Amino acid sequence: MENVNYATYLKNYPSQDGKFGRFGGAYLPEHLVPAMEEITEAYLTICQSSQFINELRRIRREFQGRPTPVYHCERLSRLNGSKCQIYLKREDLNHTGAHKLNHCMGEGLLAKFMGKKRIIAETGAGQHGVALATAAAFFGLECTIYMGEVDIQKQAPNVARMKVLGTNVVSVSKGQKTLKEAVDAAFEDYSANYKDTIYCIGSAVGPHPFPMMVRDFQFVVGEEAREQFKEMTGFLPDVVTACVGGGSNSIGMFLPFINDPVEIVGVEPLGRGKNQGDHAASMTYGSEGVMHGFNSIMLKDDKGEPAPVYSIASGLDYQSVGPEHAFLREIGRVKYDTASDAEAVEAFFKLSRYEGIIPALESSHAVAYAMRRAKEMQHGSILVNLSGRGDKDIDYVIEKYGFGENYKF
Ligand SMILES: *Cc1c(COP(=O)(O)O)cnc(C)c1O
Repeated sequence: MENVNYATYLKNYPSQDGKFGRFGGAYLPEHLVPAMEEITEAYLTICQSSQFINELRRIRREFQGRPTPVYHCERLSRLNGSKCQIYLKREDLNHTGAHKLNHCMGEGLLAKFMGKKRIIAETGAGQHGVALATAAAFFGLECTIYMGEVDIQKQAPNVARMKVLGTNVVSVSKGQKTLKEAVDAAFEDYSANYKDTIYCIGSAVGPHPFPMMVRDFQFVVGEEAREQFKEMTGFLPDVVTACVGGGSNSIGMFLPFINDPVEIVGVEPLGRGKNQGDHAASMTYGSEGVMHGFNSIMLKDDKGEPAPVYSIASGLDYQSVGPEHAFLREIGRVKYDTASDAEAVEAFFKLSRYEGIIPALESSHAVAYAMRRAKEMQHGSILVNLSGRGDKDIDYVIEKYGFGENYKF
């Protein structure tokens, strides 16, 4: 196991070739290598420029509404019959309602600094598409979003949002007509157009430099939360937690605490249970492999191909996970646990009823874990990253679960 100095962690990871230990890297078709190198070079220069840093700060303050607050859930904490206190970092109050805008605005600003005219991406449920479409409108960049035909039918409100924002939504009707085919189509576009286009990946995944860039753009979440929590309580939290899909909101929340005496836990979706196809808990049940251009831990079927995955939270159902998470677990710094659909839905209703905050189903997984842990811990504090708001999930939840009649409030 690598001997890691946490005080200098951010300087040393990733390595120059984008590795976190043996995870990460860039496994690319040859014609895309120069395109990625161009982005890496540009980013490493631009991210040191005071002009870039100050412009990003201004955007976060004036356009996104940062800093987002940290909030003490007094009523939810009392529910547990435990003295352990639950706090939320309110990324749901970020413009567009989730943390994704943090890296989309960073990627958009980078495109602008690099003189690119166009940004593209794929989207599944449409959350990344909407965040990127927002960034494109802000910066005056052209934007194309690839989306499977099946997803387009399921996610009409997000498709409408993207179109209102001026984005070109391209329907992909190959294969299963969902996320995987949309990724292929976006890569094809990027291969042909990388001279004037940047492919903006939606999480801390993909080939180098994306896991590093997305992490750097999300770092603000934990950085703010750490200061805010200390100011509110005089201490650091005992546990910091966040839900893990591709791993962007969690990595941004976790890293500012890496050199602190704080337990860090990522929460994966257990869905309906641990059988293949019923969950998307890649760290918990997966094994090492290369997918979408990077080496990490992934869920594979018998043939070694990406396995079918499922979660009630569409933002969490991804077969792999950001390479830095695979590394942080291997060196023993971060632990990974799971929450099921049922636990997430219960947390969704409880946070709504007891605090007046309707969380995204993704974020509900982290809240569910915090409620479980608070009960076990009996005292101390848990800081949860509430990655997004739940307006997008309400129709689905009430159709399947009513208005929470099955829970005691
Ligand atoms: C997309 C999304 C996630 C999962 O993505 P990460 O990259 O793991 O953060 C979590 N929460 C919300 C609200 C999302 O939209």
